[in-house]
Amino acid sequence: MSKPRVAIFDFAGCEGDQLQIVNLEEVVLDVLGQVEIVTWREAMKEQSDHYDIALVEGSITRKSDEERIKAIREKAGILVAIGACATIGGINCMKNFQDEKFVRRYVYGDKAHWYNTYAARPVSAVVPVDANVHGCPINREEFVQVLKALLQGKKPFIPNYPVCVDCKKAGNVCVLLKGQFCMGPVTRAGCGACCITEGAYCWGCRGLVDDPNMDAARELLGRFGISAGEALGQIRLYDGYREEAR
Ligand code: SF4
Ligand code: SF4
Ligand code: SF4
Repeated sequence: MSKPRVAIFDFAGCEGDQLQIVNLEEVVLDVLGQVEIVTWREAMKEQSDHYDIALVEGSITRKSDEERIKAIREKAGILVAIGACATIGGINCMKNFQDEKFVRRYVYGDKAHWYNTYAARPVSAVVPVDANVHGCPINREEFVQVLKALLQGKKPFIPNYPVCVDCKKAGNVCVLLKGQFCMGPVTRAGCGACCITEGAYCWGCRGLVDDPNMDAARELLGRFGISAGEALGQIRLYDGYREEAR
């Protein structure tokens, strides 16, 4: 039986998620050996228009991106968004809250008119997405788990509970008690609360859980002296395409 054909594409992003896949040395033969990678600009020169699974990194930031992602969607049996830029719009959406002309000039200077960028959006805002691998960058173990599930014809498990759950499991002391900010109460878990474990706080790179209890989060953060405006600013860092952030 022929192996499933996988193509990896990038839109607007830093390619950090693709680097995570490149760095999968320990499982590269086990997992990536079960598929045939037919297109991957980051790692090979061959290209093919025939694939079963499309892995898409980056957000949609130009009208012309829409045609490209629609063509990819048409050819792929399964389309997986990988990384915050692709799954929730990510850091690119910060520009959506600023004057577009100013942003163009700030980034491209006197060449601003060369670039036809528009408000950034996640892949799912343009075409249906079958599965998401969240994070900025993605967690390699989670990527493998999602890919394995898809190859077995199963629905991948994507947590829909807050990072606080992971954080408690990791045995961390809550940073709110230390007077720091944290997006953990409303951010989708699955990362093992790695940033808090490493001594930082959660800035929400996996996006909000599907149905965040914003009232409870506001009340909780307020108890620790964190304003709704501060929390909204933090949501806009990664999840600015969401209705709540807009
Ligand atoms: S999600 Fe993060 S790592 Fe992935 S492309 Fe966007 S900025 Fe880069
Ligand atoms: S608020 Fe942050 S530090 Fe506190 S438990 Fe939740 S994730 Fe952990
Ligand atoms: S702790 Fe928060 S910022 Fe860090 S990886 Fe997890 S979701 Fe992203």
